[in-house]
Amino acid sequence: MDTIMEPAKSIPVIEEADVCVLGGSCTGVFAAVRAARLGAKVVIVERQNSFGGVATSGLVNVWHSLYDNEKRQQIIAGLSYEMIERLKKRDAIIDVEATLGVNDCNAYRLNTEELKIELDNLILEAKVKPYLHTHYVGAKMGQDAIEAVFIHNKSGRGAIKAKVYIDATGDGDLCRDAGLHAYTAENMQPPTACAKIYGMNLLGDFNLPFMLQKHGEEFGLQKDWGWRGKIPGMPEVSMHAETHVFDVNCAVADMLTYSEMEGRRQIRAVMDLIRKYAPNGKKISLVNLCSYIGIRETYHIESMYKLKNKDVLYGTRFQDAIANGSYRVDIHHSNEPGITLRYLNGVEEVVRGNGMPHEFRRWREETEVNPTYYQIPYRSLVSQKVKNLLMAGRMLDAEEEAYSAVRVMVNTNQTGEAAGVAAYVSLAQDGDVRNVNANDVRKLLKEGGSIIL
Ligand SMILES: Cc1cc2nc3c(=O)[nH]c(=O)nc-3n(C[C@H](O)[C@H](O)[C@H](O)COP(=O)(O)OP(=O)(O)OC[C@H]3O[C@@H](n4cnc5c(N)ncnc54)[C@H](O)[C@@H]3O)c2cc1C
Repeated sequence: MDTIMEPAKSIPVIEEADVCVLGGSCTGVFAAVRAARLGAKVVIVERQNSFGGVATSGLVNVWHSLYDNEKRQQIIAGLSYEMIERLKKRDAIIDVEATLGVNDCNAYRLNTEELKIELDNLILEAKVKPYLHTHYVGAKMGQDAIEAVFIHNKSGRGAIKAKVYIDATGDGDLCRDAGLHAYTAENMQPPTACAKIYGMNLLGDFNLPFMLQKHGEEFGLQKDWGWRGKIPGMPEVSMHAETHVFDVNCAVADMLTYSEMEGRRQIRAVMDLIRKYAPNGKKISLVNLCSYIGIRETYHIESMYKLKNKDVLYGTRFQDAIANGSYRVDIHHSNEPGITLRYLNGVEEVVRGNGMPHEFRRWREETEVNPTYYQIPYRSLVSQKVKNLLMAGRMLDAEEEAYSAVRVMVNTNQTGEAAGVAAYVSLAQDGDVRNVNANDVRKLLKEGGSIIL
């Protein structure tokens, strides 16, 4: 490839802060808010026009259970719980937690537009300095620390200097620039373009999964599996994650571009199928496309502890645990239709495709007592190499099955909160997040409303 030198230039330092968070999904926002509530001066940088990441710009409006697998013990609270309570006051959440059975998992349906406004409020109340429409574009490295990060927005290029940095970009943009080892899973989970569609309630008993299975090919759709659901306060509008774009890594520019356009094509194809085959099909209309395609997985970043499949499936308890989760192992097949689900009670469920019966078997022998939740240790947020960098969210260092469970938002939200608190703790010491005592993080997390087990 031909290359050209970009002329060197001085970059203005637009912010000096204690903590700089890159990426403003709930993971990033919760990191920023937890650090700021403890007294740190915090800046957050987000490339979209709103905070919330996949939960807002991606339209993914499901938060899973805050309880263990047997629905006996609450294991998650903190800012996820606080946000649920705030959304309840706006009638912007359907809370189905109370009625769920064991193995059910869709606990909360959010109004993602209201979530955007609540995240703004959270940021403003905590006095975090926000930057929207702002891309992180590079880092200036010292020996084993980040000296500054570069951002780009409508005002041009700027630098932010902070004592500690939290990478919550999903793709590990800062971690990779900082020279940390990044790797991809053998079966990288494929992305999905989501949409809100009006009028699905007018189609009578039209069975969309079955009809996609039967007629999808006519509209250029592969055999696939998808899901759909309610939006609070809008019975006539539903949220759809019907398809996948296969064999892509959305952290690679060309593949991301292809995925965005292919995802939109697939949504139109689904709608055309409905228009052709459903009674009243012509009455549906497209309310919203996601602002960007929902990305399930790209790079993972090597940390001081890689979460193992057995840690999740057998519920390993860590002394430095900073998050608890009960969402099942949920692998969206990367190269064939369907998903595989594994539960901590030993049951495995394979969903082959739209309209096909689910297959059940066991992934392990039955036992009298089953683990009911798993944990994520603090060490998984910290790298060996860079002293003032924490990572939070879906770049988590984890084996494939473990990742497919911990990747859901009630879990990634907790990694953000822990990173924010750990950043604050490191400020009072030598600024080295590797030397932070996880007990101090756990204590402050608990005092700030998290459930620590
Ligand atoms: C279609 C789909 C359905 C899903 N279903 C569910 C579900 O039902 N329930 C559930 O809990 N989870 C679900 N997930 C998983 C979950 O949404 C993600 O794993 C989770 O959102 C990951 O959070 P994150 O903060 O790591 O990443 P993201 O939500 O991807 O956030 C990363 C943020 O960083 C920003 N960013 C990235 N690069 C830069 C940069 N260079 N500069 C500035 N900002 C940057 C992005 O704009 C974004 O806001 C689903 C995911 C997908 C894609």
